[in-house]
Amino acid sequence: MQTASESKTSYPIIIATVLLFVMLSVAGWLKWRFESDRAACLMNQRNIQQAMRSYQGINGLSEGAPLDRAWIVSEVFNGIEPCCPSGSIYTWSPSVPAIGTLVAPCPHGKHEFDPGTTKDW
Ligand SMILES: [Zn+2]
Repeated sequence: MQTASESKTSYPIIIATVLLFVMLSVAGWLKWRFESDRAACLMNQRNIQQAMRSYQGINGLSEGAPLDRAWIVSEVFNGIEPCCPSGSIYTWSPSVPAIGTLVAPCPHGKHEFDPGTTKDW
């Protein structure tokens, strides 16, 4: 049987355990949120690149030709320009980029593809 003083000494342990659980939960949620935003951003960049290459192919454009960003956004994305989930704004190239160069990379430092992944895009 516990005495009153033994019961009081267990409160700090319970509080510390609950705080530890809360801290781990918040850290896990932040990591999940970061990876979720990164994955959505990479998909946006891929979709923009794919739309640009389709536009290039349809119009028979070569590297360096001017790019009609408004047409791509209007026709491919129904007028809603894709944006990074973390709030960064994609910087579109004004012209058709070389193979392997992204047309609208994300300025967020952690939203980059792994090296070599986009070499034939
Ligand atoms: Zn991004």
